[in-house]
Formats: sequence, structure tokens, C-alpha cells
Amino acid sequence: MTTAQISADPVTRIVIIGGGTAGWMAASVLSKALAGRVSIQLIESDAIGTVGVGEATIPQIRLINHYLGLDENAFLKHCKGTFKLGVQFNNWGRIGDSYMHAFGDLGLPLGPLSFPHYWLRAQQEGVGGDLWNYSLNYQTAMQGRFSRLEKVGTSHLGGIKYAFHFDAGLYARYLRAGCEKRGVSRTEGRIVKTNLRGTDGFIESVTLESGATIAGDLFVDCSGFRGLLIEQALKTGYEDWSHWLPCNRAVTVASEPTGPMRPYTQATARQSGWQWRIPLQHRVGNGHVYSAAHISDDEAAHQLLQNLESPALSDPKTLRFKTGRRQQAWNRNCVALGLAAGFMEPLESTSIHLIQSGISRLVSLFPDRHFDPSLIDHYNRQTQFEYERVRDFLILHFKATQRRDTAFWQTCANMDIPHSLQEKIDLFSTTGRIIREGEELFTEMGWIQVFTGQHIKAQRHHPLADNITQSQLTEFLGNIEKLITHTVPSLPRHADFITHNCRAAA
Ligand SMILES: Cc1cc2nc3c(=O)[nH]c(=O)nc-3n(C[C@H](O)[C@H](O)[C@H](O)COP(=O)(O)OP(=O)(O)OC[C@H]3O[C@@H](n4cnc5c(N)ncnc54)[C@H](O)[C@@H]3O)c2cc1C
Repeated sequence: MTTAQISADPVTRIVIIGGGTAGWMAASVLSKALAGRVSIQLIESDAIGTVGVGEATIPQIRLINHYLGLDENAFLKHCKGTFKLGVQFNNWGRIGDSYMHAFGDLGLPLGPLSFPHYWLRAQQEGVGGDLWNYSLNYQTAMQGRFSRLEKVGTSHLGGIKYAFHFDAGLYARYLRAGCEKRGVSRTEGRIVKTNLRGTDGFIESVTLESGATIAGDLFVDCSGFRGLLIEQALKTGYEDWSHWLPCNRAVTVASEPTGPMRPYTQATARQSGWQWRIPLQHRVGNGHVYSAAHISDDEAAHQLLQNLESPALSDPKTLRFKTGRRQQAWNRNCVALGLAAGFMEPLESTSIHLIQSGISRLVSLFPDRHFDPSLIDHYNRQTQFEYERVRDFLILHFKATQRRDTAFWQTCANMDIPHSLQEKIDLFSTTGRIIREGEELFTEMGWIQVFTGQHIKAQRHHPLADNITQSQLTEFLGNIEKLITHTVPSLPRHADFITHNCRAAA
């Protein structure tokens, strides 16, 4: 096929189904990337509504906000957001434990090796401090401080790496305003029928309850768990991972804001699941994620309400889900994003990121109306790889537990795990190495924090970490620790930083 033929057959009509976080993120990026070359229509139903959760993010969200030209302070004001430096995990390895998966670096690389190799050697020789003594993010989080610090003084130590907590409904509204300025048209109404082309089963159009029919070349299914197009119409199939990630329900409730405003998410393990706490400016988001095989809905809601730090603002709401992924996130002329593409529980706040990376993959593999199968294959392979690696990281939190106090934790400790995860655990346990494959999301810094926080120890360390003497090693570690200890108290309190820069109107 020649270039002339390709450009003669471009996609000119994109239809996005759904106006949750996924729908409006997709509309935002596509309307910017394809600037005026396509018509974009988004259909959503106020009567159906959105899932109404999804308030914690990871630092990559800043990339999409930057691409869209969003001013960070204005965005936080609008979405009543706060800053997030990591996730604190309580009671996971053992009851009484607390550790953090802090964003950003640990220490500094030295010569050919990253910092964790030197820290592992120091641990084995009984010198040096706790892993998190070398995390600027962790120390800043624990003191309830925040600043946009690019680097630490004149040192080589990297600055603070952050993400946000925000009100998901307000974020969608904020994105919608930008989309409408770029010409995205929104249709309110319930889709009752998906019309397929007889010859090849591609989607031609959708029909609304009003009788209106909306046709398109490319359909982006952001319809949430129901997967209106990708599953109900195209019967794509779903790979179920609930034998590895046993939680399948969540009960959620907002509560009154509490002080001090923590710059991190909390994930506290409970008897049959875990509870999140996400501080926003105007409320705290709370949820109890649990396995329905191990606890009733009423008991789960009771445990959630008992463990709130402040009065609830509404009645709790229960959500059901099945962990897994759509077998093909892109099928024919339909790309599924968000909950329509799959769902893994929110333990590491990865769903919004998976939406974002799906959109950027779609932009880089953007088709013409021939929908070349090799583009679709690439998209699906990359998506599968990304989902499976995130899945493995999440399973680690459940598997690496010494808790045996309830049937739920016994099940987690005894379950079989994917080979890819077992390999990672074995490699680290025996050699102290963590190898990041391809573009997998979580880095060595993330894995070592969860390994260490949940008591998986390395028996050996990298031989090149022995290239310095023990006194050089102690000095190296001590200098980093000092730098962090001196830096953190000079940073503003998180709440003060918000008041001065991005406080939402009352
Ligand atoms: C318990 C829980 C906690 C979570 N926490 C986090 C978190 O902390 N961080 C994170 O990154 N992610 C989190 N997520 C995931 C996050 O909520 C979602 O990824 C995100 O909200 C995107 O949802 P969505 O847009 O795909 O679907 P939805 O919000 O469900 O939106 C679906 C849209 O489709 C429309 N629609 C559906 N059917 C029709 C129809 N027939 N006609 C017309 N319109 C229709 C609806 O009206 C709606 O607009 C969490 C999810 C759950 C379940």
C-alpha cells in the first residue's frame, strides 16, 4: 500500500463512548493530537453515571497534564487536589508493620551500579540505615511536607517526585471544558444498540434511546465495567485474574477532611482485604477492598465505617468487579480504555495510568480506515505486557505476607503465582538483582521497597558493590542520609503549600 493510498483513507470520525475519567482523558488527548483533522463525538449517559472513584494517581499523570497544557495549580484548585509522594502500606507483611512505596529515587547511583546494590551490601555487613533513610520522598511524606523540589541543593540527589489525589468527577469536568474548546461534541443519552457491518463485524454506528444514530470510523469504548462495545457487541472475551488477586468488591465512603493533610495515600490491610485513605482538600476518600468469599458486604461496610478517622459524609456504596483484562483491548475498529479494557484493584493507583498509556499507544499506532492488523497486534501485545507486569507487582503485596491470622491471608500466602513473578522473587532472593524488562511500569526502586517492606530478603549482593571499602560505603550512605535529614525540615508543610499555591475556593 502506498503512502498516497493511506492518506486518502484517513479516520475522520471518532466516537468515544463514556464520559468518565477514561472518556474525557481520551477526548482530551485525541482532540489535541489530531487537532482539527477529525470530528470527535463523546456520548455519555447522566442516568448511568460514572464509577465515581479513582482519586489517587502516580507521577506519570503529570505528563498528560503537561501535554494538555494544564496549569498545575489551577488544576489542583479545580479538582480540590492534594500532592501524593507514595503509598503507605500498613499491616501487610505482618500486623504492626508499616512501610512506604515512595515515588522517586532511593539514594544515588555510584559508578556502574544503582543505589540498592550498595544498600543491600551494607545490610549484609550490618552497616547503614533503614532503606527509607535514603528516600527524600519518604522522609518528606512522614514529616507532612511538600515542595516542588527539582534537586537537592547543589548535590546530585534528585528532588521530590510527586503525583496527586483529586476528585475524579471534577477532573473529568475540567478535562471536558478543554475538550469542548477544541471542538469535541458531547451527546447526552443512553446507547441501546451497537450496529455492526455485515461483512466483517466492524462497528458502523451506535443507536441512542432517543432513536438517534451516531456513525464513526473508530470507536473508543470507555463505557466502564460493562464494556458496551468491546464485550457486549464484539464478544471479545475477558481473562480472569481473580485467582491471583482475590479481592472482588469495594465499599466506599467519603468522610470529613482531617488534619494534618497527609501527602500520601494509605493502604491498610484488614482481615479480608485492605482499606484506602485518600486525603483531598474538601474530604477524605475511603474504601475497603475485599474478597466476598471471605467477608460479607455488611461486615465489610461495618469495618470501613469503624475505621474512619472522621465522620462519614454519605452512606457507603458497594462496587463489584472482576480482576483481569480484556483479551484484546483493540478489536476491529474498537479500542477499549479504562474499566472497559480491564481492571486490577487500586492498590498501587495504576488504573488512570493504564488509561493514559493506552491513549498514548493509540496515538502512536493511530490507524487509517484499513485498520492494519499489524497495528492492532502491536497494540494488544504491548497492552498485555503492561497489564501483566502491573498484575505481578500487585500480587506480590498479597503473596509476600507472613500473616496467617485469617482465611483470607492464608489463601494469599498459599496461592500459586505467575511464573513471571516467581522468577522476579527468586532472582532477588538469591542474587539481589531486580531486572526491569522492557517498558514495565514499576522500576527497581518500587520493587525493592515492597520486597523489603514485606520481608523478602536478598541472600547476596552484586559483586561490583564490593569495589569500595566498607568505610567508603559507610561514608557514602551517611552523606546521603545527612543531605536528606538537613533538607526535609526546610520544606513547607503540605497544607501550607496548598494554601499558598492551590487552595480551592470554599
Ligand atoms: C473501587 C475502585 C477504586 C479505584 N481507585 C482508583 C485509584 O485510586 N486510582 C486509579 O488510578 N484508579 C482507580 N480506580 C479505577 C478508576 O476509577 C477508573 O479507571 C476510572 O474512573 C475510569 O473509569 P471509566 O471512565 O473507564 O469508567 P466509568 O467511570 O464507569 O465511566 C463509564 C461511562 O460510560 C457511560 N456509559 C456506560 N454505558 C452507557 C450507555 N449504554 N450509553 C451511554 N453511556 C454509557 C457512563 O455514563 C459513563 O460516563 C478505581 C476503581 C475502583 C472500582
